[in-house]
Amino acid sequence: MLSCKETSLLVSQSLDRRLAWRERIALRMHLLVCGACRSFADQAAFLRTAVRRFGRRANAPEPLRLSQDARERIARELRDKQP
Ligand SMILES: [Zn+2]
Repeated sequence: MLSCKETSLLVSQSLDRRLAWRERIALRMHLLVCGACRSFADQAAFLRTAVRRFGRRANAPEPLRLSQDARERIARELRDKQP
């Protein structure tokens, strides 16, 4: 079983690279039993989505700023996910 430290490392790495199947299984096993790492993984997934959306928008010919609505949604999401 992975430790929380190893799990958070894998979660972070999963943002940058595709994990090997062994790593994905080990990660899932840990997330099944550990709520703290699960919320960390949720936050990481949320941030990855936000960053990707922002990246797409940055390539569009619009001003490079998050809308007020987006800022509020991110703030709300982060607040709700506090342990
Ligand atoms: Zn954990």
